[in-house]
Amino acid sequence: MADRLFLSSPHMSDEGYEMEYIKEAFDTNWIAPLGENVNEFENELATMVGSKSAAALSSGTAAIHLALKAAGVEVGDIVFCPTLTFSATVNPIIYQNAVPVFIDSNYETWNMCPKALEKAFEKYPEVKAVIVVHLYGLSADMDKIVELCKKHNVALIEDAAESLGTYYKGIHTGTIGDYGIFSFNGNKIITTSGGGMLVSNNEEKVTKARFWATQSRDQARHYQHSELGFNYRMSNVVAGIGRGQLKVLKQRVEKKNYIFELYKRELSELEGIEFMPSNEWNKPNYWLSSMTLNGKVRPIDIMEALEKANIESRPIWKPMHMQPYFEKYDFVGTDVSEKLFENGVCLPSDTKITDEDLKRVVETIKNLWVR
Ligand SMILES: *Cc1c(COP(=O)(O)O)cnc(C)c1O
Repeated sequence: MADRLFLSSPHMSDEGYEMEYIKEAFDTNWIAPLGENVNEFENELATMVGSKSAAALSSGTAAIHLALKAAGVEVGDIVFCPTLTFSATVNPIIYQNAVPVFIDSNYETWNMCPKALEKAFEKYPEVKAVIVVHLYGLSADMDKIVELCKKHNVALIEDAAESLGTYYKGIHTGTIGDYGIFSFNGNKIITTSGGGMLVSNNEEKVTKARFWATQSRDQARHYQHSELGFNYRMSNVVAGIGRGQLKVLKQRVEKKNYIFELYKRELSELEGIEFMPSNEWNKPNYWLSSMTLNGKVRPIDIMEALEKANIESRPIWKPMHMQPYFEKYDFVGTDVSEKLFENGVCLPSDTKITDEDLKRVVETIKNLWVR
């Protein structure tokens, strides 16, 4: 059988940059705690995205948790967040014993619908924070969302876990709101095996996040704590992988673009297929090439045919307001995210994929239309 093709799998640099940084950590015995790789990974990422400061953490989820804390979200506070996302966007709201209210997507961006957000503000004027997600590397309609948050004086957190390398009107996603988070989980555009980053222009808040992430140890010879702490810091070995991966991010974005353009060129003609939306203000990283099907061939037909050919594919995220654990929370919107879930498919977008592999994917899909 042909080799399995993945949606998105780890892709270390051909040059071996990651091993160089890891070796340095081993040679100096700075395996843990912290060390130069952590500091430099923070500086390098902050510079690349154009943020004043960054805190390297154990996961993107941890970064969202600390962003919520930094934004002052506490027990019983309401937080708006998109319904069409991965559960990791929402879980930290629950960790804070706060209350999520889910906001629908629009077809123009697949992300948070500004009109639904406006309605939610009318319904819950006491809301404490808003989390916006840049799904699959597509940026949300930020001008409108920022304007609404400013008008209501509410903190805006950007979950940019899937959008490292994505620009909105020339500004890197994750640096437009008050806080931004990135993920380096194994399936993301670059990976450290696992890890995350919190960025903000508010250096004081980022310093505070680092304090919380290292068990909230006060300045003292003994262990002294006046606040609840977390063990959320990134290790120096892991940060070494991140520094190496940052060097190839541009190449990865270029390859993801190439994959998307190829699919679009080859498949757009097929009846019922529509690719993820393009907007002139958006320069996406195309983390996962995704499309919707509105004709006779259904997503399940494509996923089954691909699986038979040993090719991984997946539906679009199942909305949070449809999840057993989260359905008790309020939802503002119509059926857009539900429809995107019903009709959507994510195609293999692995940056190691060859032209031959891509041909295999395209042919397998095209075959469903000739029957
Ligand atoms: C991956 C992801 C996260 C979580 O990141 P981890 O590093 O896996 O904790 C959060 N939000 C979205 C949208 C993601 O895709």
